[in-house]
Amino acid sequence: MHHRSRTPGPKLLGVAIAAVLGLGVAVPPAFAGPAGGPSADADPVPGLVAGSDTAAPQLVTGLAEAAPGDNPAEAARAHLAAHQDRYQVDTAQLAEAGVERAADGRRTVRFEQRHGGIPVFGARYLVHLVGEGAGQRVESAGGKYFTGLTAPTVQSVPDEVLRRLAIGAVQDPAARAGAAAEDHGLVVLPGGAGRLARHFTVRGSDPAVWAAKAQEVFVDAAVGQVALSYEVRAPYPLGVPAVAAAAAAPALEPATGTAPDVLGRPARVNIGRLPDGTYQLVDLTRPATVTTYDAAGREVMDYDRTLPADAHPAASATTEFPATTGTSGATDAHLNAAAVYDFYRDRLGRDGIDGKAGPITSVVNVTSFGEPMDNAYWDGQKMIYGGGSGKYRPFSVARDVAGHEMTHGVVKHTAELVYLGQSGALDEALADYFGNAIEVTSRGIPMTDPRAALLGEDLCRTGTPETCADRRLDDRRSTAADYIGAPAGVDNGGVHLNSTIVSGALWDIRRTLDPLLADRLVYRALAEYLTPLDDFVDARNAVLAAGRSLGLDRAQLRTVAGAFDAHGIKDGWQRRIGVDSRPLLRDLSTESVTPDVAAGRWVVATAGKGAKGSMAVYGGAVGGSAEPARLSPEDGRSHSWPATDGTTAVWAAMGPGADGAWGMEVLARPLAGGPVRSVHRGVNQYLGDVRVSGADIAFLMPDHATGRSGPAISRDGAPAVPIALPEGHAAAALALHDGLLAWTESWQVGERTVSAPTVYSLAAGKVVAQYVVDDANAGAGTEVGSTRLAGGRLLWVETPYDRTKGSTIRSGALDGSGVTDLLPAGPRPGSGAGSEPRRIAGLTASDRAVTFAEAGRRATGGTKNTDLPKLWQLPLTGGTPERMSCNRGGQYFPVADRGTRVVWLDATAGRTDLVVRERAAGTC
Ligand SMILES: [Zn+2]
Repeated sequence: MHHRSRTPGPKLLGVAIAAVLGLGVAVPPAFAGPAGGPSADADPVPGLVAGSDTAAPQLVTGLAEAAPGDNPAEAARAHLAAHQDRYQVDTAQLAEAGVERAADGRRTVRFEQRHGGIPVFGARYLVHLVGEGAGQRVESAGGKYFTGLTAPTVQSVPDEVLRRLAIGAVQDPAARAGAAAEDHGLVVLPGGAGRLARHFTVRGSDPAVWAAKAQEVFVDAAVGQVALSYEVRAPYPLGVPAVAAAAAAPALEPATGTAPDVLGRPARVNIGRLPDGTYQLVDLTRPATVTTYDAAGREVMDYDRTLPADAHPAASATTEFPATTGTSGATDAHLNAAAVYDFYRDRLGRDGIDGKAGPITSVVNVTSFGEPMDNAYWDGQKMIYGGGSGKYRPFSVARDVAGHEMTHGVVKHTAELVYLGQSGALDEALADYFGNAIEVTSRGIPMTDPRAALLGEDLCRTGTPETCADRRLDDRRSTAADYIGAPAGVDNGGVHLNSTIVSGALWDIRRTLDPLLADRLVYRALAEYLTPLDDFVDARNAVLAAGRSLGLDRAQLRTVAGAFDAHGIKDGWQRRIGVDSRPLLRDLSTESVTPDVAAGRWVVATAGKGAKGSMAVYGGAVGGSAEPARLSPEDGRSHSWPATDGTTAVWAAMGPGADGAWGMEVLARPLAGGPVRSVHRGVNQYLGDVRVSGADIAFLMPDHATGRSGPAISRDGAPAVPIALPEGHAAAALALHDGLLAWTESWQVGERTVSAPTVYSLAAGKVVAQYVVDDANAGAGTEVGSTRLAGGRLLWVETPYDRTKGSTIRSGALDGSGVTDLLPAGPRPGSGAGSEPRRIAGLTASDRAVTFAEAGRRATGGTKNTDLPKLWQLPLTGGTPERMSCNRGGQYFPVADRGTRVVWLDATAGRTDLVVRERAAGTC
């Protein structure tokens, strides 16, 4: 694929799901709700919450409207139709997605929105019914139903192209190799007019990269462009088949026995007796069968979403299980799985993870590539636990961890929260809450115990529980003070980074209200009110609505609202996050939105704002107050990757042309307005790196015969012509400035890839400087890129693939006469002991200053804000880099204007904004 040069890491972008989908324009509701709007002395439960980017309300509570009938789904549908003016929901576009029946007989009817028969991603509308038959009433309703969808419903790009794009969306080349895309068919992504997309789940063959995860990719099926992409841990959708091996198990007789726990203490266990008189860790005393396997150190991949043919539950010749059953963690896993089941059934009336008494299976003591695995996860079907290491105990020991991971399974079967941004952080928060609630309840730990709020505190072999704990629910974090705007590529947009903001509020409720009441409240919100795309404020409203339906009194509801207030979860919290940058355009979508700026004029592509579905190019003045202007035509194509020289904007349009053939076209238009001009159209051809300088327009074009990309140039409006490269050479990272075209050229020498930043004179028609980087890193390889022309020099970045080594910024004379290091490889700024090398993800330069984005580290559960990319600036003549901005969240795609002014994409405010600063902030 030619992706990497054209889209310099679309995975580096992203934030809240609403921003990803281009949601966020509040539309006033079509009516004043039956319970009235909020006022100063208002009921803590809002009667009506307007939807975002839709005329359908997010929540309507306080109803008691008759909805007679024996079929709840039919009654709910008739109710929505009878109050069409209130809900703005077209019931012909609703497909029934299940009826949840609570223990007390209440019913929640779930509908999935369709657009022309195609499911709308994450759009669920719920109706809550009480009473029976003739006395049946609607108590509340709400969710997400998008009223503005006009997206096409017919795919115009061939299946095979969409599949290739989906696999190409995986950034890591090692992960992409051998990856396969499972096709889930068409969906409509909400946001404005919506986008018709094909949904794929991409999984790879390399277990080192792909163990226990997959990537969800949505490719715009009207234009052929990745519209949304994020990683998932438990890659199975609803309707998971029960573990086959459990179903095929031989007939067992229930029995009881004794097994040592991880510390060797004898514990009573429910077991199963085989016909041959031996025993297994199979608990048959519950509606759901609880089974525990001991992998005895085998590879995690042998058990991930499967079981080896010879696998059998942990076994014993007698009812006294051997010592290994304890040291492997099997006994603890067995007891914890039963405790999780009992908590959900006895306390909340839920029959297991799937609500249908499906088997609860655990596998303990797996390893990963022969190394100890210090982790645990729900693979969509069962629990998998690492056997621990010198540092950690077997992960099945921690009941809160077991409860946390199995609660992810419950979420999958109820709210189906999308594992990205705020909805993903909600998923984590609910797992945190119930994980800890299960532990303290089943072990009799009082809420006043200072360690009650710790998660995973039992796992360390040494150290105190406080230092061992992964997270703590009493960390008092709040949105405005602590929300970390992370990109989709880091921790799925901050799902762990931000979870305790919400789980902290839920835990405060549990400490203040009666714990049982709090558990029922949070569970009702999860099972009956939340929908897949909900954000933090939606969760607040869902919990309050659940509280009203549970019969909480006014004081109790005030307590609940107060807990959310204390964590800053209330309307408009994003506006209270402090930033030191000035916004130019807010709430961009997050794929393919790379900005550019020159001479005080900026351009950017976005699918949000007024864009009709697909991407559109906008432009504006850095200093001006005028509204941004839309530059691209509304022709059903996607318009992305714009560039400007301050006078002209250029970009690439993608999609079927007037002749119906799919392709890409380079377009140009004066920023001051005027006609759109076609520079070049490639049918079935990927074009990239569109650049402009005066009357010159350059871009990357693949050679039809070899598929390798090379530069093409159009001068003074003449047709574009390719610039011939030596045989076997390819170009990437184009830069164009005042008659000079620069790129990074690469070719193979044996097994090695050689790269060379190169300068070409358009007037002379030849290469005038080339700096060959022939691998000082002896075979390990070096990534060379970010070619820039500034201050009469050629600049580029060299980053060794060996991650223990750092990036260097180099500069070369334009006549090829010599190289200097502008910024030698050094430690990552702020990395304390200087142990960590600097990794640069993007470079930009003016005639005075160089600005670079530091790459974020790979996402793990332990990601911190310091791991997010930040911008640094130094003089073009060299010097010490200073922080460009002290904004808290991720900072991406810097582009230099004049002097020290830089424009970039900033995720701090919980969405992606295009922002600007005039000079570096210094130290933060
Ligand atoms: Zn989790």
